Amino acid sequence: MKIATVVGARPQFIKAAVVSHELRKMHTEILIHTGQHFDYNMSEQFFKELDIPDPDYNLGISGGTHAQMTGKMMIAIEEVLTQELPDWLLVYGDTNSTLAAALSAVKLHIPVCHVEAGARVHSMTNPEEINRICTDHVSTLLLASTQSGYEEMANEGLQSKGMLVGDPMYDAFIEYSNKLDIKAINLQLLNGESLQVPEQFYYLTCHREENTNDDKDLREIFKATEMLNAPTIYPVHPRNKQRAIRLQKEYKYSKIILCEPVGYLESACLVRHANKIITDSGGLQREAFYAGKKCVTLLNFICWPETMVDGRNELCRPIAEEIVKKLEYPQIVDEQYLPFGDGHSAIKIVDAMERNYQERGNK
Ligand code: UDP
Repeated sequence: MKIATVVGARPQFIKAAVVSHELRKMHTEILIHTGQHFDYNMSEQFFKELDIPDPDYNLGISGGTHAQMTGKMMIAIEEVLTQELPDWLLVYGDTNSTLAAALSAVKLHIPVCHVEAGARVHSMTNPEEINRICTDHVSTLLLASTQSGYEEMANEGLQSKGMLVGDPMYDAFIEYSNKLDIKAINLQLLNGESLQVPEQFYYLTCHREENTNDDKDLREIFKATEMLNAPTIYPVHPRNKQRAIRLQKEYKYSKIILCEPVGYLESACLVRHANKIITDSGGLQREAFYAGKKCVTLLNFICWPETMVDGRNELCRPIAEEIVKKLEYPQIVDEQYLPFGDGHSAIKIVDAMERNYQERGNK
């Protein structure tokens, strides 16, 4: 098979790392990077650390409104797909790159395989929800990471195209999260200095549109970190950088460690060693769960229902006192409960694509 994979954002590089390695054992992969994430530490570092093959095409498209970005990507991806004529388009998750690629491919009658299909937050104010729904409905093969994703497909009449394969983020976490020694991590602070990871710390990531539109929410989150019993490491997403620096300066928060985004090996290592996690990231919530770390999620919708058990992951408004209170709620970690698969989802993804390809009359 010849597979065109489109990636553009950090979590997609991580999933593509494990799947590409499996795919390339038997098949030809053309890797297309839209450019949605482009800073060294949001993109190239992931390719290097995770040994992802260099993209065959780098489209250099980022920024602008959702429509501008999606539209530009569609035009450029269509051109590549028309030249390459792959047997499959493979996409991950829920970004504008995912949607643009899926729409371009389906109009060219190229079958689309969507990994992380069926995930729903049931809120159309969440921009990624629109990408998830549209991508699933135009795809030929829907590969769900969890049972809840698989069940969501049935609600939308998509189950006949769907399969449960497990979560490639879990594969990646198993493979990569023990590669680094925490003492070897040097955080690049936003003030230009560098810092070793303190013995005790909380780990925060925050970048969703919902939490970065004004100062209020980030101020509350920073205020919460002042009330905790250890410093909080916050690798700041580029979207939040100016605001985070300004707020820290203005309000003299002393317990938040603002640093540049870290690579995946570093991030997974920080998850493993953190006291607890505060995040609005779909990926980090799951990693906290894999590592058995208590997580407070700064969103008003559930991304991964499987994590919302036994006090392990709490939804929380961006209100300082609430964050601190919910971090203190106890959790129970049942080691036998493994809703994200067995760590071999990449093989299952490639198998499912091969089978579907053959069922459509190909050899
Ligand atoms: N991550 C990283 N470096 C960072 C912050 C996060 O490598 O500085 C990783 C994190 O461990 C997780 C992924 O990026 O695997 C999550 O990506 P992001 O939060 O950008 O997207 P989302 O999960 O919200 O789709």
